[in-house]
Amino acid sequence: MFDVIVVGGGPTGMMLAAELRLRGVSVVVLEKETTPPREVRALGLHVRSIEIMDQRGLLDRFLAHGTRHPLRNPYAAMDTPAPDNLDTAHGYILGIPQPVTDRLLAEHARELGADIRRGTEVTTLHQDDSGVTVSLADGTTLHASYAVGCDGGRSTVRKLLGVEFPGEPAKVETLLGEMSVGVGPEAVTEVVTEVRKAERRFGLGPLADGVYRVVVPAEGVREDRDTAPTLDEFARQLRAVAGTDFGVHSPRWLSRFGDATRLAERYRNGRVLLAGDAAHIHPPVGGQGLNLGIQDAFNLGWKLAATVRGGAPHGLLDTYEVERRPVAASVLDNTRAQMHLMSQDPGAQAVRRLVSELAEFDDVNRHLLGKITAIDIRYDLGDEHPLVGRRLPDTALSRGRLYDRMHDGRGLLLDSTGTLSVDGWQDRVDHVVDGSDELDEAAVLLRPDGYVAWVAGSSGSLADSLARWFGAAGALTA
Ligand SMILES: Cc1cc2nc3c(=O)[nH]c(=O)nc-3n(C[C@H](O)[C@H](O)[C@H](O)COP(=O)(O)OP(=O)(O)OC[C@H]3O[C@@H](n4cnc5c(N)ncnc54)[C@H](O)[C@@H]3O)c2cc1C
Repeated sequence: MFDVIVVGGGPTGMMLAAELRLRGVSVVVLEKETTPPREVRALGLHVRSIEIMDQRGLLDRFLAHGTRHPLRNPYAAMDTPAPDNLDTAHGYILGIPQPVTDRLLAEHARELGADIRRGTEVTTLHQDDSGVTVSLADGTTLHASYAVGCDGGRSTVRKLLGVEFPGEPAKVETLLGEMSVGVGPEAVTEVVTEVRKAERRFGLGPLADGVYRVVVPAEGVREDRDTAPTLDEFARQLRAVAGTDFGVHSPRWLSRFGDATRLAERYRNGRVLLAGDAAHIHPPVGGQGLNLGIQDAFNLGWKLAATVRGGAPHGLLDTYEVERRPVAASVLDNTRAQMHLMSQDPGAQAVRRLVSELAEFDDVNRHLLGKITAIDIRYDLGDEHPLVGRRLPDTALSRGRLYDRMHDGRGLLLDSTGTLSVDGWQDRVDHVVDGSDELDEAAVLLRPDGYVAWVAGSSGSLADSLARWFGAAGALTA
């Protein structure tokens, strides 16, 4: 018997398992594949995810395996220079292949004590007042108080729950793989530069050892996207799109992906929740899906942990869907807009030229980049104060850094006055008597996910806010 069953061992599932373990919740991660995928889907982390890694003391590991790229705005592949003074201590893109991100998150979850079981496929699910029982492909069952479907876009959990997944089916399909080429780098660059002027779903990017990451539109949209394309299919499509197949050979892996755009109509059904691609899918423009899933897990982890352990304020778990579903809806919309701006339709190209001109205005550029990096998110917590509902960037305190104080995933009262108190909540909230030159406020209360719950001088009281997010005073110690 576990507290929580996490179905799916991708980045969302591993981040969630770690966040639950951080709070002592017993977790099993069930992953159907026996080995991690070789395909490199996501290529990096955006600002908010980098901040999350910093908040949990993981950033050094990611920096050791990644490359910091100067931040540019990838919106619709317009590649606009980033605005100055972005509101973050991490104004860069961290290039890191998804298999490495997946591995680092799995290691983190395992170190914290998550029970990770590979080669374990969930086939059915049943819930009642006492908890959730899942059946596995080998005929055994497991029971837990809650379960979370982090099992990707074709989520079995979502289907078993009967949660609708409305949206648009794939209209285009793209081939993606890693392979060697039979021509020199100059010849590749010349053709790619020319073809990309009109076809932005095409590219050959050099990796190490003469291997290229190849992206090329497929001929049509296949029903069965699980069947990997062949090298012949790649060569044919390269000839069709670029006039040459570049002599491609020796593939490492070959895959295909579509541009379906869908959002689960609910994120929760009783004791079962959905997160990551299981709850939302969209084309990979702007590189947002993995980031979005990690951020779902970061929002859900502390809320589910508090619910499992008891003493959570009424309705806390439901704020997960209330906060995260609109964020996903907004990401879906920005990918729809980007796909349109990247199409070859003359009208869309005219709009692209216009948006490109507009992006030269600092406010517009900042607005578009805020969407991609997820630093523009403001949860509606019912308080007019401009900071409430937003995440705080890292900031220097007179003793150390703010994010260094957040590794344990507890709430945090940053109090420059020294007159406030978290008495009754000390077991859930740290009281840091310190200040920052970069912060105008005398005191702020941060939730475990780094979002501001209360600011000195905002409408409500500190005690009310502590109770709203952490439960009644003394609840856990009692
Ligand atoms: C070509 C491409 C490029 C991309 N580039 C980017 C990018 O640059 N940046 C970015 O942020 N995102 C990118 N993405 C999106 C990103 O890859 C996904 O959003 C991300 O992997 C979602 O993580 P997840 O953990 O929610 O789901 P997944 O990574 O799909 O993991 C789900 C896991 O659940 C397992 N599973 C499924 N069913 C079961 C079952 N019944 N029982 C047990 N286990 C099960 C699967 O085996 C899988 O391991 C890209 C996607 C594609 C296709």
